[in-house]
Amino acid sequence: MNLRRSLLALVTLIGALGLVLPTRTRAWTLLGGELDLSQRDFRVYNNFSDAEANDNTDADLNFPGASGAVLAIWKACVEWSSELHGDGGGDPHQPFDIGSGGANFDPSFQGQADIIGNTNANIISQIDSYGGGTLAYTELPIADGWRIRFFQDPTVWHDGPGEIIGGSEHADIQGIATHEFGHALGLGHSTVAGATMATLSSNHYIPMRSIEPDDQAGIQYLYGVKATDKPHIETYTLSGDTLTISGANFDTVGNEVWFTPAAPGGDGTPLAVSGLASSGGGTSLSVTIPNAAGPGDLLVKRAGLDHAALSNPFPFDPAREPCASPSAYGAAKTTSFGSTPILSARGYGSAVTDDLVLDVYNGTMNGWGVLFSGPAPMSLPLFGGTVHVAPPFVRETLFQFNFVGIAELPVPVDAALLGTTRYYQVWFEDPGDTFGVGLTNGLEVQFCP
Ligand SMILES: [Zn+2]
Repeated sequence: MNLRRSLLALVTLIGALGLVLPTRTRAWTLLGGELDLSQRDFRVYNNFSDAEANDNTDADLNFPGASGAVLAIWKACVEWSSELHGDGGGDPHQPFDIGSGGANFDPSFQGQADIIGNTNANIISQIDSYGGGTLAYTELPIADGWRIRFFQDPTVWHDGPGEIIGGSEHADIQGIATHEFGHALGLGHSTVAGATMATLSSNHYIPMRSIEPDDQAGIQYLYGVKATDKPHIETYTLSGDTLTISGANFDTVGNEVWFTPAAPGGDGTPLAVSGLASSGGGTSLSVTIPNAAGPGDLLVKRAGLDHAALSNPFPFDPAREPCASPSAYGAAKTTSFGSTPILSARGYGSAVTDDLVLDVYNGTMNGWGVLFSGPAPMSLPLFGGTVHVAPPFVRETLFQFNFVGIAELPVPVDAALLGTTRYYQVWFEDPGDTFGVGLTNGLEVQFCP
């Protein structure tokens, strides 16, 4: 990637500010500053004009309410978070690994802007001009904020999250935004090949979406390694307009909760409710949801302005509680040919995403199987294995494994399932077995409204 011009622009700015580049004893480099705690906000002005920049409309529970370029940029920024964002899902190129900074740095998504904003308004947008060899650039000063612009020409911008089809002029918004946001938080270019802050990449810059150990070392140097007493959001529950946040390290009194505004606009100042007391030794915090709050991220800030005063951003949807990923339980029965059959899941038991697919591995080549479910777990020895599902059984799907013993079983999420938890297992024929029967592990699936 040719980012020489943006680097030159940065060096010019740094020169104007009288800052000096550090000696290059490390692979990562610094721009000479860091963001104040008051500058954790980011907004997106979605003026991206390529159709490919806004054609991803698949709902993602980790990024509620977002789509297109806004979704891609939200993913990019929270990759620098101190810990996994929600369950880390949302990017097929780094499965369940979004949120990899491990530093006292966490960004706050403050929704969509309705203007390009000034050079320290912390807004990401497209600039409708020709970039030559430069794809995008970041304007500083650092402590007081930043602005990121993506050149419209000659690039065709894509919002992902899957592969990008097209020639070398096609580029990934999320990958480039991850790199540029690294500049915004104070990192220069790295000499480590494959690092997000390195200047060379391939595959349309998709690999830059995932920050690498060298990038992590840089952000941890700037903001400190994630402190053990940093506030942490684990999950939340809703009761009417009362939100109760569960986590750790909240102050006894004087906490703030930050929300994402529903409406575009604002000035980037986090939508916050302040003066909140916690209970349970700093593990629980209740707050009335402000009318202006929409789907986005929650953060908790305790008193003070040090980098460790702010929690991780946690996906929040005022309309629903978090939906747990399906989870495996219980042991499978070893097959007559020595394999361990596996029942696993992709997606969620959610009517919003309706993307639940159960996968069965290590079954009998071309053999037949049955996916069945029940309302509770069980552990009943049978056929030399264990039945992990309690009756009454529902026979879900009769299927045939493919020639390598794999089956892919979509489970439609219909309205009757919502609010329930179901337990799944696969029975299949295993002609070489004493009982002629194979049994997988169990799989618990919560169906969320
Ligand atoms: Zn750069």
